[in-house]
Amino acid sequence: MVTIPFACAECNAILSDDQDQCNHCPTSPVSRDWQGLVIVFNPEMSEVGKRMGVTRAGSYALKVNVR
Ligand SMILES: [Zn+2]
Repeated sequence: MVTIPFACAECNAILSDDQDQCNHCPTSPVSRDWQGLVIVFNPEMSEVGKRMGVTRAGSYALKVNVR
C-alpha cells in the first residue's frame, strides 16, 4: 500500500513522506486530500507553474481540499 503524502494548502507543494508540515508555510494546514500532481522543473518557463504562482521547482497538487 502506498501512503499518500501531505500537500500544503497554502502553496500546494507536495511534501516528502516524512514531512507533515510545509517548510515554507509553517502555519498553514496540510492535507492528504488533494488532486492532480504537477511537477514543475522550471517555474519561470512553466505555464502551469505561473498560473499556480509557483516560484520553486518541485511537485505540486492542482487542488488541495482542507476540511
Ligand atoms: Zn507551503
